[in-house]
Amino acid sequence: MKSKTLTCIICPNGCTIDVKAHDNGDIEVSGNKCPRGKEYAVQELFDPRRTISSTVRIEGAMLPLCSVRLDRPVPKKEIFAVMEEINKVSIKAPSHIGDVVIENVCGLGANVIVTKNLDKI
Ligand code: SF4
Repeated sequence: MKSKTLTCIICPNGCTIDVKAHDNGDIEVSGNKCPRGKEYAVQELFDPRRTISSTVRIEGAMLPLCSVRLDRPVPKKEIFAVMEEINKVSIKAPSHIGDVVIENVCGLGANVIVTKNLDKI
């Protein structure tokens, strides 16, 4: 049997959820106050995913760094590989919110996008 106790992060209620996957395939979830919590707990048990916010170097702007984030969650075990790719990147001003800095990072189907507008100086 595979099991986990976790805090649901989908809404501010922060329910403590127990999720168990029995060897016969049955899945038992308790502690969730709504179906979204069940979905989250099952995902966390079998395929935990995370988004990342970070920064990349930017040339020709008032600031040396520009904030970026993933546009969708990626498997938690791939976070370090994604960070390595983000750390290699340098962009040129101007930056615009939503600009794609890395498309399909590490082949995971997520893009790294800009989250700050920075003018060229
Ligand atoms: S289980 Fe539902 S009510 Fe509880 S924290 Fe998650 S989303 Fe919110």
